[in-house]
Amino acid sequence: MALDSDLFHPDYVPEPYWWEAARPGTDHATDLPASTEVLIVGSGYAGLSAALELARNGRTATVVEKDRFGEGASTRNGGGLSAGINLGKGISGTPGQASKGEDHAKLIERLMVESAASLDLIETLVARENIHCHFEKTGRFLGAYTAQHFEGFQAKAELINRVTDAGATVLSRAEQRAEIASDFYHGGIVIKKSAKLHPALFHKGLLEAAHRAGARLCAETEVSGIEGTAGNFTVRTSRGECKAEQVIIATNGYTGALTPGLRKRLIPVASHIIATEKLPADLAASLIPHGRTISETPRVLCYYRMSPDGTRMIYGGRARFTQVGPDVSGSLLHRMMTDRFPQLKGTKITHSWSGLVAFTNDFLPHMGQEKGLHYCLGCNGSGVGMLTYLGTQVAQRILQGGRANTAYATLDLPKVPVPFYDGRPWFLPVVGGYYRWLDKRDRRRE
Ligand SMILES: Cc1cc2nc3c(=O)[nH]c(=O)nc-3n(C[C@H](O)[C@H](O)[C@H](O)COP(=O)(O)OP(=O)(O)OC[C@H]3O[C@@H](n4cnc5c(N)ncnc54)[C@H](O)[C@@H]3O)c2cc1C
Repeated sequence: MALDSDLFHPDYVPEPYWWEAARPGTDHATDLPASTEVLIVGSGYAGLSAALELARNGRTATVVEKDRFGEGASTRNGGGLSAGINLGKGISGTPGQASKGEDHAKLIERLMVESAASLDLIETLVARENIHCHFEKTGRFLGAYTAQHFEGFQAKAELINRVTDAGATVLSRAEQRAEIASDFYHGGIVIKKSAKLHPALFHKGLLEAAHRAGARLCAETEVSGIEGTAGNFTVRTSRGECKAEQVIIATNGYTGALTPGLRKRLIPVASHIIATEKLPADLAASLIPHGRTISETPRVLCYYRMSPDGTRMIYGGRARFTQVGPDVSGSLLHRMMTDRFPQLKGTKITHSWSGLVAFTNDFLPHMGQEKGLHYCLGCNGSGVGMLTYLGTQVAQRILQGGRANTAYATLDLPKVPVPFYDGRPWFLPVVGGYYRWLDKRDRRRE
């Protein structure tokens, strides 16, 4: 089907804008070793941060990736770092059956403190490993989609400020123009301790750091089976077998038939992004004057920011919950973008792409053990900081002989309450359509 030339630029490519600077590849790839102390499945932020931490502490760690390194979400995302305070429903709702008797409010606070620490970890990694990834602590603006959403913001900001050092301030609708050249929202919260980076350059930097530290990196090697118990696993791959004392599953939205028990506790959801052509300098500078990342409160949300050089809008959202062609998601996102910024009508798309994130039933990320396998999974759309953090935590758990230092290890990975669910989310188109209808209804009511 021909692309709509009113929307798509003649130079349009259906792949991530970020890949212009760093494309998934096989640099530093080695053969699969016959044995390793720790074998890690998946080469995104979670797998690489675990490998880096293990290798720096003298363990032999081997990352096994079925595609090119970084083929998953870690080179495709928006690069927004929420300092983890974006704990989804967990921040105001219930983290499922997770609390195991611990006082619920205290647990939430511990999770929030640790989540805020994920940003400190990224900052440390970027500095220590000298990663050039346009890391900037520019803060975040969370826009209220309805007046009712805005009503909860004061309490939310107070909770964030009481528990973390994230620095949250509520802005009324009349004040929000200081943050965003749009009247779309009913006010918002500015969260100072929040950042952005170039996701593919950050991934490249982590990969190089893991390599320098001595981790083995195997590309284009699919793990097809894991047998045995902790201390003595045999891992079958498309390139032969490897013995491993410990295994870490770091496959997030790409978790498949290899680990059916984990797969059926995750809901893989597509997320989509477009990059616009370069904008006129004064228009580009006016859209998000303080360079913040932007997110919002509807069920089907958008998240966006300017490109690291400040010239383009990078606009993401769950235009559809399933993988659709980049031309389809691109057109939908363009409409969402111009709903927020009518001044971008006529601006063309140069890149459109998608990736998979993993949702959990409690909207929280998880680390734990299943059948002796370690895992860190369930980004719920916000995994740049949190899955780097939990990858590091899983590694520390192994280094400390099984002792975990994180409240996230106390949470059970809850079941998805859909009968016979096996990890293939047939219900997503219906849920996505229903959520979009609910969002529209909520706006219309006002
Ligand atoms: C479009 C989009 C926008 C996003 N925006 C943001 C954002 O702005 N901020 C934020 O915090 N988060 C964001 N996220 C989420 C974030 O990108 C993810 O949480 C994070 O990258 C997950 O990292 P990971 O290492 O756990 O998994 P991934 O990077 O997804 O890596 C998993 C890897 O496992 C591999 N794999 C799977 N099965 C096997 C197997 N059997 N054998 C070998 N390898 C296997 C896959 O090939 C894949 O490379 C976004 C995600 C997407 C898709």
